[in-house]
Amino acid sequence: MIIKTVNLETVCGITSTFPENILPEFAFAGKSNVGKSSLINALMNRKAYARTSAQPGKTQTVNFYNINDAFYYVDLPGYGYAKVSLQEKERWGKMIERYLHTSRQLRAVFLLVDIRHEPSANDKMMYEWMVYHGYAPVIIATKLDKIKRSQLQKQLKLIRSGLGLKGESLILPFSAETKQGREEIWALLEELMQE
Ligand code: GDP
Repeated sequence: MIIKTVNLETVCGITSTFPENILPEFAFAGKSNVGKSSLINALMNRKAYARTSAQPGKTQTVNFYNINDAFYYVDLPGYGYAKVSLQEKERWGKMIERYLHTSRQLRAVFLLVDIRHEPSANDKMMYEWMVYHGYAPVIIATKLDKIKRSQLQKQLKLIRSGLGLKGESLILPFSAETKQGREEIWALLEELMQE
């Protein structure tokens, strides 16, 4: 897809009502620092549209990016930032759940995990929420350039077992550094948009 326009159209905080969009939505979740902003920028061919987090966990909003007036890229708040109170963590969690529960246009959810590490308890919880709300999350394993090619299968297995993925669940390895995996993610988004 040729990206003509990217507009951050709506920003929702804890108490905001989510917009009732007509265009399809695709939501992206992952813990702080996993590379979510870098993924958005790589997909959109923008250098710094979504701010990469100098202070992870700071912006706790749901951001709706209108792309080409064709679909929304929905950036869910990063979770798991250690320096935040439990109460605050619960509020973000509720916001994410509320979005998953209420969006009518949400076509697919993407969960980002770092390819180098075993998924955390928060990653697993997020995955389970997504499944609970009826979605089959697509896993994006970020920072692919940080591992050796020979480690890939082992790491994918670790992610699969850590999240408790079912056999058919898709994991797409991705690197914002080399852009490896970008075409596969785009192909999937385009396919889902047709549905
Ligand atoms: P966010 O908090 O999930 O939005 O994460 P960011 O996109 O801000 O990335 C967190 C850090 O990881 C930054 O220092 C990025 O430069 C780095 N990073 C993100 N993606 C990649 C990647 O694919 N490869 C490498 N080597 N670093 C990455």
